[in-house]
Amino acid sequence: HAKHTGRNRYAFFTEEMQAISTRALTLGNALHDALERQEFSLHYQPQISLITGKIIGAEALIRWHSLELGHVSPGEFIPLAEESGQILAIGEWVLRETARQLKQWLEEGITPVRIAVNLSYAQFQVNDLPAIVAAILNEYAVPAQYLELELTERIATKDPEHTITILESFQQLGIHTSIDDFGTGYSSLSYLQRFPVYKLKIDQSFVRNMTTNTNDQVIVGTIILLAQQLGMTTIAEGVETKAQLEMLYNIGCDDIQGYYISRPIPAEEFKIGFLQKKQRFLVAQD
Ligand code: C2E
Ligand code: MG
Ligand code: MG
Ligand code: MG
Repeated sequence: HAKHTGRNRYAFFTEEMQAISTRALTLGNALHDALERQEFSLHYQPQISLITGKIIGAEALIRWHSLELGHVSPGEFIPLAEESGQILAIGEWVLRETARQLKQWLEEGITPVRIAVNLSYAQFQVNDLPAIVAAILNEYAVPAQYLELELTERIATKDPEHTITILESFQQLGIHTSIDDFGTGYSSLSYLQRFPVYKLKIDQSFVRNMTTNTNDQVIVGTIILLAQQLGMTTIAEGVETKAQLEMLYNIGCDDIQGYYISRPIPAEEFKIGFLQKKQRFLVAQD
């Protein structure tokens, strides 16, 4: 009986592993042509101030519509692109597309908001990244104030001295930076204090259950206090309900981002729904 179970288990694992690697191969091949075929686009997710109710920025999130595979989520293809090295070209495309979009809005006479772009580890390791970013902004004549760069806590803490050097370069260029998925990594407080970043993005895993789980509520509250002490602002990610919004307002979180306000949406929809409307998008006390 034991042998039988063992054999079944073996067969099960190989089939599953086979399926995973086949999918990875198919994705990898499709990814190879994706840039050339212009299969990528950016969606924009608004960020709202809990104090004023107004839009303060947006996060640019990559979308891939593959000819063969249809929509593939970044959670699935970004790790593959990181492994293959394609992330450098894709990451540069994201920066360039953001700058192009900002230039277009400016030319249309629309005042944009600051757009946050996610950086991957490989990009962050390129020593002349600040020069590359500056060249792109320059090429599109977009003021640095309209760009923000997000670095996950995990990436930021891998080599803290390198992080400080790069973040200082961005600061000198007038480009804002933020620490993404904060609370899930291993920041040493002494380094965090030396990181010249503007905001901490509270990871959505803590926001998700904060209204029912006291531990998560305490973690979110502690991150907010920490940020206040360090002179940084806070934005909560993954806000989906009014209850979460109200609790975040009450404990002093500055800004929010999440489905409660809007899902990430295409540029045109974002322009019409958020950039051209000079309204308050929420009032916490409603
Ligand atoms: P992230 O940077 O932490 O982005 C936030 C993710 O949470 C996005 O998923 C967003 O759509 C999702 N989200 C926003 N609000 C809510 C909410 O209320 N509820 C829930 N459940 N989810 C929400 P997305 O777009 O699938 O991206 C996943 C991850 O892929 C990103 O996490 C980021 O790490 C990576 N990524 C996306 N675009 C890029 C990019 O251009 N470059 C790089 N290097 N990574 C990217
Ligand atoms: Mg992000
Ligand atoms: Mg995040
Ligand atoms: Mg994330």
